[in-house]
Amino acid sequence: MTGRLSPVKYIEELQLEAFQYLLDHAAIYRESWINIYLSHYLKLTLAKKTDKSSRENYNSYATAILKRMKIYGIKNNNIDKNKIVGTFEKWENKNHSRYETLMTYGALVRMLEKIKNVAKKRNMLIKDFPTIGSLPYGSADAMAIQVPESSKYVIIFNIGIFGFIRVIEHIIVQAYSFKVGNTIEFSFNREIIIKTINESPILQKQFKNFLNACILQGNPYQTPYFRIKTPQLELARYLDECSKLFIMAHEYAHILRGHLDYPAFQQVSIGYSEFNVAKFNHQLELEADKIGLLLLNQIAYDGGYLNTALAGIELYFSAAELIDKAFATLEYGDDTPIESITHPSFAVRRLTIKKVLPKIISNKQLIVQELLFADAVKLVIDTLWQKTKNDYMNYHKKGIKPGLIFLKNL
Ligand SMILES: [Zn+2]
Repeated sequence: MTGRLSPVKYIEELQLEAFQYLLDHAAIYRESWINIYLSHYLKLTLAKKTDKSSRENYNSYATAILKRMKIYGIKNNNIDKNKIVGTFEKWENKNHSRYETLMTYGALVRMLEKIKNVAKKRNMLIKDFPTIGSLPYGSADAMAIQVPESSKYVIIFNIGIFGFIRVIEHIIVQAYSFKVGNTIEFSFNREIIIKTINESPILQKQFKNFLNACILQGNPYQTPYFRIKTPQLELARYLDECSKLFIMAHEYAHILRGHLDYPAFQQVSIGYSEFNVAKFNHQLELEADKIGLLLLNQIAYDGGYLNTALAGIELYFSAAELIDKAFATLEYGDDTPIESITHPSFAVRRLTIKKVLPKIISNKQLIVQELLFADAVKLVIDTLWQKTKNDYMNYHKKGIKPGLIFLKNL
């Protein structure tokens, strides 16, 4: 990849490389989550061949969305086909890759706008705002990359991370009982949570299905569908928002603080491509976490859902840690995660975030509430893992190997 490229062109090149790689290895990746990406690409090429207009493409996307909403029992009278097509057309004018999946892109734009607003308020705005995109690169996160021979940056989300976060959050919110009064109150009491999990074989089964889908099949979307009800669904939505916002704010912080301008670049290979990323430095990672927390807290405070901010971060930490544990158990028969060269351990990241919180929020009561929910998120995932660990030890003894969740374990 040579020559000066615009950020969007650069993302397109990365995506085309990825598609080509996936096409070449289609047989191997058949059951992996990145296969979703591949089918998306094939659809695009097909559309080009038949010269379908984008309007027609949007129409068929809109039909698919409405159909899915019906299957999942989601009712929203404000949404109709014309509105969805209109939204797509609005995104069309944005500066994005031709190979972007529109749903994912729309969600990314919405998040980036929120970060932009808060960054402006806090005097943390980057003049040359990063361009966003998605890529099927395997590991459950996002990354900030410098465009070659340019001073511009892109933030790339792994295509599978949205589904990954959505399924796990829908599982864990079921462990919180609630009381309906004037407001809805969730209980984050330790004993009650553990009791709920112990007495719910369905929840344990959903968790195991999710883990198997991620680890054995390499595709969180393979988790058998289950439905949850409001108000737990509402709670899951806030967790979802905070989790993804934190991931994006963390990457934003790397660019804001010039972490990628550090002279010591490191080339990272992720199966089909190589990137220049900031030399892995745990100090820089923790700094990005702190700024991510600051930005997320401000957004959540303004939006009236501060209680879920830290819990959203914890959801991401615990879920990613869970994948590491399950992966290590399957490979080595021991759930101590293999140390990452890129990031500090989740225990260190968690501790840093908790230490920084009182510097961001002065109201002690608000801190207590944030911590309460965050600890409850960790408790549910840890408790469910303890119940599933033995199955993974048995898989290990039987020689069952992990699926292709990671193109390359960074
Ligand atoms: Zn980072």
